[in-house]
Amino acid sequence: MFTKTKVAAFGAAAVLVLSACSSDDGGTEEVATGDFPEGSTMAELAEAGEITIGTKFDQPLFGLIGPDGVPVGFDVNIGTIIAGELGISEDNIEWVETVSANREPFIEGGQVDLVVATYTINDERKEVVSFAGPYYNAGQSLMVLADNSDISGPDDLAGKNVCSVEGSTPAANISENYPDANLVLFAAYTDCLEPLRNGQVDVVTTDNVILAGYVDESDGEFAIAGEPFTEEPYGIGLALEDDEFRDWINDVLEEIFEDGRWLEAWNADGSAGTVLPEPETPAVDRY
Ligand code: GLU
Repeated sequence: MFTKTKVAAFGAAAVLVLSACSSDDGGTEEVATGDFPEGSTMAELAEAGEITIGTKFDQPLFGLIGPDGVPVGFDVNIGTIIAGELGISEDNIEWVETVSANREPFIEGGQVDLVVATYTINDERKEVVSFAGPYYNAGQSLMVLADNSDISGPDDLAGKNVCSVEGSTPAANISENYPDANLVLFAAYTDCLEPLRNGQVDVVTTDNVILAGYVDESDGEFAIAGEPFTEEPYGIGLALEDDEFRDWINDVLEEIFEDGRWLEAWNADGSAGTVLPEPETPAVDRY
């Protein structure tokens, strides 16, 4: 498991960096909201000393709720680092469960300040929210029962019951490009697992790295079928047109790609690196 101590360590490192910022006269000063442009979202959050972040609660390796009610995983670690850069400690992060379909509404309605939730950056979503990142590149894949050898790619889905999630890009891809599949939609990917076990559906589809978490937990019951067949760049969702906040998060991402904290977040207990290979460093897209 990703221990609390480790979460705290991410935050603490960030606060130390911030508190050593040099001032114009060559001395150092404490972190203050004044470190951020007046009126910016960064200044507001730093001043409030708390942040609300939407993430998944049922996706091992990325966002999985722990016994103490705090989620763990790579997305959670990325959110924790960003909060830390605002001077906000782990204890002052409120984690809100976002399922795929409520990510845009939660950002638009102000229920969350950020979404870090296996959230693919795409043009349709960019109409209603902004994205920093990507901080990881995934791809859509298929998961079947381990003894199923009928399916090895999306062209094998005709006539099959294919389970996915409302408001997700994998579901949209199947309904647009593989109309002969019978798409079965739920709110969250874990809703697909029992139907896969008992044969009500033949396949679960979403990003390869989400499926890898379920395969890992399944004790040999589930397997990935074939190779990823889309590109799913993961971004950090925030309010539309908050360009200052987006630029600042992109700066933080570039810094943590460089200084090793991104990889440390990947490899932490309960995070993606415990199961998945080390990823290539993504390139931030400042669209
Ligand atoms: N990355 C895809 C998406 O944002 C699938 C994963 C998910 O639903 O969270 O829709």
